[in-house]
Amino acid sequence: MKLVAVLLGVAVATIVAQQPQYDLVVVNGTVVDGTGGPGRRANVAVKDGKIVFVGEVAASAGKESVDATGLVVAPGFIDVHTHADDVDEHPLAANFVRMGVTSIVAGNCGGSALDVGAALARIADAKVSVNFATLIGHNTVRAEVMGRENRDPSIVDLSKMKALVWKAMADGAVGFSTGLQYVPGTYSKTPEIIELARVAANEGGVYASHMRNEGTALEEAIQETLRVGDATGARVQVSHLKVDAPSRWGASAKALQLIDTARARGIVVIADQYAYTAASSSLSIRFPGWALEGGQEKIAERLNDPATWARIKEEMKGLLGERGLKDLSFAKVASYRADPSLNGLSMQQVAQKLKGSSTPDAQFEAAREMMLNRGASMVYHFMGDEDVERIMRHPQVAFASDASVIEPGQGVPHPRGMGNNARVLGEYVRVRKVISLEEAIRKMTSLPAAHFRFADRGTIKPGMAADLVLLDPAKVGDAATFEKPHAYATGIPHVFVNGVAVVKNGEHTGAKPGAILRRQ
Ligand SMILES: [Zn+2]
Repeated sequence: MKLVAVLLGVAVATIVAQQPQYDLVVVNGTVVDGTGGPGRRANVAVKDGKIVFVGEVAASAGKESVDATGLVVAPGFIDVHTHADDVDEHPLAANFVRMGVTSIVAGNCGGSALDVGAALARIADAKVSVNFATLIGHNTVRAEVMGRENRDPSIVDLSKMKALVWKAMADGAVGFSTGLQYVPGTYSKTPEIIELARVAANEGGVYASHMRNEGTALEEAIQETLRVGDATGARVQVSHLKVDAPSRWGASAKALQLIDTARARGIVVIADQYAYTAASSSLSIRFPGWALEGGQEKIAERLNDPATWARIKEEMKGLLGERGLKDLSFAKVASYRADPSLNGLSMQQVAQKLKGSSTPDAQFEAAREMMLNRGASMVYHFMGDEDVERIMRHPQVAFASDASVIEPGQGVPHPRGMGNNARVLGEYVRVRKVISLEEAIRKMTSLPAAHFRFADRGTIKPGMAADLVLLDPAKVGDAATFEKPHAYATGIPHVFVNGVAVVKNGEHTGAKPGAILRRQ
């Protein structure tokens, strides 16, 4: 009996030794761990969705192994500013994962689910390919309590809005966002924002702001954002920092200086950016705020009244003039539901098509017609590369696509949604050498993870979630252009989310291992 037991013991031990110890081993790659430190040759072992070992480990120790010879192994990228609130309806989120994004933050620019708890449950139930977190949006909360009215909140309104923000935070929101160029947020004043941001800050949430102005009054808008940080102690995030007026190109230097000064006095403030000289937003953002009050019916009344329309048009021209722009030719249609044949056309082309002329006046008339048909989503070419590069060099600037989930072939969206991270690594790191690869990866990983307190994301070390991107530094790049935006990033052959391959040999695997991320 004893001998049998010993023999059995030996047999069991042999079998155990032959069992792979890890679920996944990535070998022969250069690990750029997200801290900003130099890349080093190391293998990465993963078990139960976590990184458990970094160093020398044999490929045979993994049930699965990936040979990363010639590739950089980085933490999964965190896209800190998206509009992918409906990811449950597009669960593969291919445009994100194909550019290395493994975690997204939604609920930006003041727009989010009102019932954050229900939204997070819906996404968890649907199962999606990326990790997901959301902010609670000011515009969403304000519209719920006050509609689209242009007025200050009463005490009762304010307490109702605070309760909604508090509930969202209790349900798992990671902070509070504003969109102060949009209705109804544009009707709010700083004290209201402070009151609401304080609720989020007290729960450990961030304050992220699409500011009131991003060009002609950029410095004042940054000051307002920082005032919220000063008053509430919130960690602050300036959303999609840019200079969106040719007349103000160069003002990014002052903007970044204001951020540095605030950091020096103790406010935790970062910014995010996308690596393009064009923005994307609604057509309505070109109209004066008062003209948009009260919803579509009221808007149509104003646009159909000749005297009021004349006044709106004059104000639009004035606002453009301050920016150094003469007409709407810097604008292209991304998506126009009423007539998709206009998608991809410049406003000059739109005016030619709708009004038989491309003059500035015909462009404004075409914009009026489009607003009467409930508006459009647009791409706006009005930034300078010098500002984009200066902002990128700042150590406290993370990257963000500002994009939604893009379904192949739909509309002519801004290419950032398919290419942003890859464009940074290809165009700005490899070609222009604006920042180093290690620094770019830090800004996509540990910087945002620390800001949002995603404690187990953003670096490659034992104990962290196994979100990994394998990229070829010689080939990584964006393929999506403004003309042909439906093209996935290149040079990113493998992406893992929580230890599961979502991209393998450059193709989406269909896996949906994404988790809901909460502040920790
Ligand atoms: Zn925005």
